[in-house]
Amino acid sequence: MNSSTVKTVKFGGSSLASGEQFRKVHSIITADPARRYVVPSAPGKRFPEDDKVTDLFYACYEKAMRGESIREVFSRIIDRYDGIIRDLGLSMSLKKEYEEIESALIHRTGRDYAASRGEYLNGKILSKYLGYDFIDASDVIFFREDGVFDSERTNEVLSAVLRRHECAVIPGFYGSMPNDTVKTFSRGGSDITGSIVARASASSIYENWTDVSGFLMADPRIVKEPKSIETITYRELRELSYMGATVLHEESIFPVRVAGIPINIRNTNHPDDKGTMIVSHCAPDGRGVITGIAGKRGFSVITVEKDMMNQETGFGRRVLQVIENSGLRFEHLPSGIDTMSVIISTADLAPYRNMVINNICTAVDPDTISIEDKLALIAVVGRNMVKAKGTAARVLSAVARAGVNLRMIDQGSCEINIILGVAEEDFEKAVEAIYREFEN
Ligand code: ASP
Repeated sequence: MNSSTVKTVKFGGSSLASGEQFRKVHSIITADPARRYVVPSAPGKRFPEDDKVTDLFYACYEKAMRGESIREVFSRIIDRYDGIIRDLGLSMSLKKEYEEIESALIHRTGRDYAASRGEYLNGKILSKYLGYDFIDASDVIFFREDGVFDSERTNEVLSAVLRRHECAVIPGFYGSMPNDTVKTFSRGGSDITGSIVARASASSIYENWTDVSGFLMADPRIVKEPKSIETITYRELRELSYMGATVLHEESIFPVRVAGIPINIRNTNHPDDKGTMIVSHCAPDGRGVITGIAGKRGFSVITVEKDMMNQETGFGRRVLQVIENSGLRFEHLPSGIDTMSVIISTADLAPYRNMVINNICTAVDPDTISIEDKLALIAVVGRNMVKAKGTAARVLSAVARAGVNLRMIDQGSCEINIILGVAEEDFEKAVEAIYREFEN
């Protein structure tokens, strides 16, 4: 079988939350023989008030650490898995695994170990249900001593192991440390495992099955029925997800990006929807100037003013040095001839506010310095903006027509984004106005 016939498919927690969801997953996988490597999450919520199994495992860990009994919570976990096994009519028992895990939890085996068991047990059930081999992620996904994911070692070992398995289930979210203890990625990290497996198996595509039909052009809580995005580049996605559009774990882009493998976000509940295709490059298709709009509240602007600032060598560096020395990151740096503004997350800045102001005063002796809070940032992102003339003018006039005062504008030098700063109270109005300007 050549690599064009290999697809890696990852299913999120809501896609594997119940027997009914497992059946949908089964028919998706069996509909295409190329779907040979499957990465499951732990069972997610079946209804809004339900628990995610991963959260129950974290709760067990906390209880064990406090010396409390884990019995009640652990039996809820067992019920979730046994319910799925029963519903699917599988002849299997996880009794041995439950005993082993319960004992490890009671003996306070690490927090990551506890969390990882959600994927581990779900992987056991899914491999049995599909008749696929089970590969424990601890044996093929590695972290370095410093806790950073070891991509090259993993890729080498995992590729070799996958070559020996025609079809396999590899649980998401975790791997192992050099001392063999379990380590997880950050929350939502099964997306990363899917990407790693896609790379190691030289898959033609990484299908990420979830409960939405891909990315929408804007947040549906702000814009009514926004259009979905058919194709987006990795770079555009980075811009949008950094600014708050979340469907996929941010770090899951890197392994497939290195290998030039596209990601297709698909909906387990609507498998016929095409979803969103995430690709490395995409020729401008003239299909719309804007790919998407995203934004975040909660920023502060520190504005430093000083006459003849532009003549002072090293002014900017000294201001930024203060920011860096406080361990802060800045988002944007809009500047005039005699003013310089630094935009920083308000929450991050909070513990250092006074110190930062005092240190900037010492470092550059400004005429005035001020902090303003309650700024929202909006990113308007689109690869077609490079070619389209007048995009910034359209963005600005849409915002002006909506009666919103623009506090800042910044166009990235790559010309795939325009960042706007508006007062938090104008955030939604501005997003809506920009969306309407570009929706067709
Ligand atoms: N189960 C883990 C979590 O809830 C990882 C994942 O679902 O991707 O974060």
